Amino acid sequence: MRGVGCMNNNREGSSLSTISNTLSAVKSKPRSHSINYVSSDYESLDYDHYESELTVREEKLNGYKTVVASNVIRWLIYFSIAICTAAVGIFIDTVIEYFCNWKFQSIRNCIDVKHSTVECLIIWILFTVIPTIIGCCVVLFMEPSAAGSGIPFVISYLNGIRIPRMTAVRCLLVKVISVVCVCIAGLGGGKEGPLIHIGAMVGGSVVEAWWKGFRNGPGRKVIGPLQNDRERRDMMAAGAAAGLSAAFGSPVGGTLMSLEEGTSFWSSSLMWKVFFCAAIAFPTYNAGKNVLFSNNTSLLQMYCPAGSYNEISSFWLHTPEESIRSLFHYPIEAYSVVPLLVYCVIYFILTELTVGLNMSAGLFLPSLLIGAAWGRIASIVIHYYSPGTIGDDPGKYALLGAAAQLGGIVRATISLTVVFIEATGNVQFLLPLMITLFTAKWTGDFFTDGIYEMQIKLSGVPLLVSEPPPLTSDITTEDFMSDTVCAIPHILMVGKLVDILNTTKHNGFPVVASKVCFCRTRNIEHKCYGLLKGFILRSQLNAILEHNLYLTPLHDENYCIKLELLRKSTYTCHNTQQFQRLKVDEDERSIVIDLGPYMNSAPYIVRLETSLSRTFRLFRTLGLRHIVVINNTNEVVGIVTRKDLAKFRLWRKAATMGLKEVNVY
Ligand code: ATP
Repeated sequence: MRGVGCMNNNREGSSLSTISNTLSAVKSKPRSHSINYVSSDYESLDYDHYESELTVREEKLNGYKTVVASNVIRWLIYFSIAICTAAVGIFIDTVIEYFCNWKFQSIRNCIDVKHSTVECLIIWILFTVIPTIIGCCVVLFMEPSAAGSGIPFVISYLNGIRIPRMTAVRCLLVKVISVVCVCIAGLGGGKEGPLIHIGAMVGGSVVEAWWKGFRNGPGRKVIGPLQNDRERRDMMAAGAAAGLSAAFGSPVGGTLMSLEEGTSFWSSSLMWKVFFCAAIAFPTYNAGKNVLFSNNTSLLQMYCPAGSYNEISSFWLHTPEESIRSLFHYPIEAYSVVPLLVYCVIYFILTELTVGLNMSAGLFLPSLLIGAAWGRIASIVIHYYSPGTIGDDPGKYALLGAAAQLGGIVRATISLTVVFIEATGNVQFLLPLMITLFTAKWTGDFFTDGIYEMQIKLSGVPLLVSEPPPLTSDITTEDFMSDTVCAIPHILMVGKLVDILNTTKHNGFPVVASKVCFCRTRNIEHKCYGLLKGFILRSQLNAILEHNLYLTPLHDENYCIKLELLRKSTYTCHNTQQFQRLKVDEDERSIVIDLGPYMNSAPYIVRLETSLSRTFRLFRTLGLRHIVVINNTNEVVGIVTRKDLAKFRLWRKAATMGLKEVNVY
């Protein structure tokens, strides 16, 4: 079961379990619309610390003052992420509010003043069709990756997968335009989910702006240690939390959502930073505004006689936020069952259709709205059969309905409980909310995966789930590693290095010291590729060759420039650039390079006998990109990447469906 042609190892006598036999058939192309494949289109991110001779020198020469300065800059970056996310949110809100007011005022004018139903209908159609066309076209023709809420992308990124164009500025712009259009058109989608993605994008863009701003000045040594995938991941997690905090007025909920849904690695220091970001974004965004669950709207009279109002119009001629507030706060007699049921069913269908459009629409708000309507219906039914039980507050049933619907769709429990408590400001709801959310999650999990998990699986993203697959203790690393390793000698000629890069597609290479030989474990013969010296990424090798770093010896004056070039290469290189054919002059081919100073000299390793679950946990918790497999004499015998492990997440599905084969690439 190998991902590249040169890596077959059908070893006789290998004691693979039924599970791995199920997974052993590899197809060259994924089946469309299948969840039984892992796509090779996605690259991994590297959340490991890059430790080389260069970084050690940097740390020694910079000293403690630089550590403190880097920390100050780090907090400033988090602060700017919070402010920028809130600013983008405010911009979105202001535009939506302006256009929605214009739309609803024009419609009401037509009815109340002009008494012209036809004109009213034309205005409504124009305000629906034009934004829908614009919102779809910008996504379709300018940036398809801006479609949907973007939360599955955020989850995947935080898990360690590079999603192409996910943090591009164009994606951010298109997302903003599209989400504004969805809300103006009154489609079944909200801005809350996209705001989480927008927060993450702002996090990624702001940190890059800081990197670029400081790259050439004296601040280079301060920003240097912050230039890596790990820092960017933390800042994107903080941006996502800031987005949710702003949208729901819930800083703690935003922090917990970032933990529960996204980040595979968590520490108390990261929690502080994420919370700081969420806490700044909340008041900035909500200054002078009504938070989602506050009480402020009015019911619409329309054609009804004085003193009465039209229930259906009160739903459709208000923004969804206003409708939610009315469901939470109005007395029991404000709405009756039939209009609620009609609204609920129509809005559910509208939401389904909107999700299928190529627009940037989130599911949070429609789910809350539909759930609140169900809850309200339940309260009316209970009130009818048992008057007095409900008291004068049907809103709590609406709240629990909203929690059940949203929890059943996104399957988050802790964070949603806190979001609802913070947004309502009523801690008395804690117990019923917890019971509702757990019941919704367990019921949903019994039948299907959550919506985001499904979307991730459908895209073939090699996500590493939180736990290794069960019943796999008899699978060792030896059983699923690639055993035809492309390793690079520690000292080699430029020509040889160029040939290796031009003839392979791997993104990382073990650096080794001695010659190839053979060793034997469990009666299986393994090729050994030499003593492990370190690990180096393709992007770093590209930078060494492109900037001729090998021509100058390493000394105190140039180590900083070399390090900067290596760091820059890892976050600016995209797939196409990575694999461009390298060319060097004939006379340069014979120059000898020592990779020692540039390679990661302490890469993570596992032994052949390490179990699948242990390797899986190492990978997931440390956010690794590659792990080198060694034998008991420290010689390289194999390599494992995320894709080798991700295919095991298919186990449960494969086993329960009795599938004989699973597409891996
Ligand atoms: P990524 O694209 O995730 O950054 P990568 O391109 O280095 O990493 P993958 O695409 O994840 O590697 O790996 C595809 C297959 O190639 C896997 O089965 C993996 O074990 C194998 N592989 C990765 N690197 C090497 C290498 N240096 N030598 C041999 N096989 C490798």
